[in-house]
Amino acid sequence: MLLDGKRILITGVLNDASIAFTVARRAQEEGAEVILTSFGRVMRLTERTAKRLPTEATVVELDVSNPDDLDSLAGRVGGHLDGVLHAIGFAPESCLGGGFLTAPWEDVAIALQVSAYSLKALGVAALPLMSPGGSIVGLDFDNTQAWPVYDWMGVAKSAFESTARYLARDLGPKGVRVNLVAAGPIRTMAAKSIPGFEAFEEVWTQRAPLGWDIRNPEPVANACVALFSDLFPATTGEMLHVDGGFHAVGA
Ligand code: NAD
Repeated sequence: MLLDGKRILITGVLNDASIAFTVARRAQEEGAEVILTSFGRVMRLTERTAKRLPTEATVVELDVSNPDDLDSLAGRVGGHLDGVLHAIGFAPESCLGGGFLTAPWEDVAIALQVSAYSLKALGVAALPLMSPGGSIVGLDFDNTQAWPVYDWMGVAKSAFESTARYLARDLGPKGVRVNLVAAGPIRTMAAKSIPGFEAFEEVWTQRAPLGWDIRNPEPVANACVALFSDLFPATTGEMLHVDGGFHAVGA
């Protein structure tokens, strides 16, 4: 199996619609030991969801914007890690759905911290456990161009993409690869909280050369599994599109 003997920390499992849930399931099916993270008031929901995995996973507290949680993460997870999944995104309401010109900096700052800076924060927090190396994978929505309604979350994704490249630069010499999987739209809690997200779903289904199923995160999860495996030892700082080919066509 692809992930035999590997131990992987997976953030971002809220419910079984979360992309990270399918990554956790596929990782276990490929032989990995999986540890989940969650935080605050959604902790219970994650714990309930953890029971629906093929093997129930332990859930560790991590609010990625809390420095104490980050500093103590390695000690609380313990052992070693071969992989870390970053599946975290959040922006206050003002930042999405048409508020680009009016969102206040305080809200934009939260979106940037939780959705972009957090990749660096999580990577550094997990690093003590990733010796002699490992694989960090982040979930991205390609923001090399401006989208309708995505607004400051889009700007945060551009920062996230850049953070991945700088993190790859600095962690490469320690044997840690950092790559992103740029997914097409998937019906999750995060997606449903973006007013007007249906527009993406429609255009994707029509335009993606391979077609696209907004209810099936499995192709995205399989790409994450491949990046956690030993099949990509010389790939880092990369953005792998799993979007039905949408990014490659103009109209
Ligand atoms: P989701 O709502 O299931 O997951 C988002 C997760 O972020 C939740 O588990 C939530 O608890 C977590 N989170 C928010 N703030 C946090 C904090 N401060 N600390 C720790 N965790 C926090 O939705 P999802 O769509 O599975 O999102 C996972 C990732 O995938 C996000 O980065 C999202 O941008 C990305 N993505 C989603 C889509 C899509 O269409 N759904 C497409 C491309 C990329």
